[in-house]
Amino acid sequence: MQAEASLPLNLDIADASEVLVFAPHPDDECIGCGGILALLAKQSTVNIKVVLITNGDGGVNSPEPDMGPRRENEMRKALSILGIEQLECLRYPDGRFELNNEFINRIESILISFNPKWVLLPSPIDYHKDHLLSSNVISSQCLNHQNIEKLIFYETWCPVPATHTLDITDVMNVKIKALQQHESAMKYGDYVRCISALNTYRGLYLGFDRYAEAFLVHQLKDSKRSEFPLTKFIELGIYLKNLLAST
Ligand SMILES: [Zn+2]
Repeated sequence: MQAEASLPLNLDIADASEVLVFAPHPDDECIGCGGILALLAKQSTVNIKVVLITNGDGGVNSPEPDMGPRRENEMRKALSILGIEQLECLRYPDGRFELNNEFINRIESILISFNPKWVLLPSPIDYHKDHLLSSNVISSQCLNHQNIEKLIFYETWCPVPATHTLDITDVMNVKIKALQQHESAMKYGDYVRCISALNTYRGLYLGFDRYAEAFLVHQLKDSKRSEFPLTKFIELGIYLKNLLAST
């Protein structure tokens, strides 16, 4: 394994400062990046804001009238456990979210006002339409913001071809506790078991008994990585979506 393998790099979070996180639905922030957020929140120099894109009411087959507010509240509790207070809810329709100028303008104003250096967002390769769309649009917008140093794509419904991993062993219990706040979503899947397994697998690169989160990182200020083929991944995500739709 060691001789020929080119393994994911360690994601160094020591110099993080302004971190903006986009979550299409309540729970994505825990599934994909609960560990890194818990670690970043411990660093006093880091300012973290989370943007919830949809209202979360379509996460089940027959949404109850108060499903949206309830899931939003669950997300606030989860973020509090992770050590994060800043949450902005855009409340677009869950599962029926569509691209338009109003959405682009809202994202643009958030990017300008928060002025992030790192942006965490869903992977461009994902089974969920809301994830694909938000990832593609927001990552494209970020390319025009000179202060953004890194796009960090996290994995939720489809594992990413990881460029980086981060050891989250020390905060795995915090991540699980935060994930458990999403009681509405957890009725439809054993997220604790599944995400623990994913983070166990990602720990394979780090040694025994480690948990890790994996990311696809697009460096915007590193000339060595400036040709990272972001558009290729977006194309692959769209190809996967079309392939599934045609079979
Ligand atoms: Zn989601």
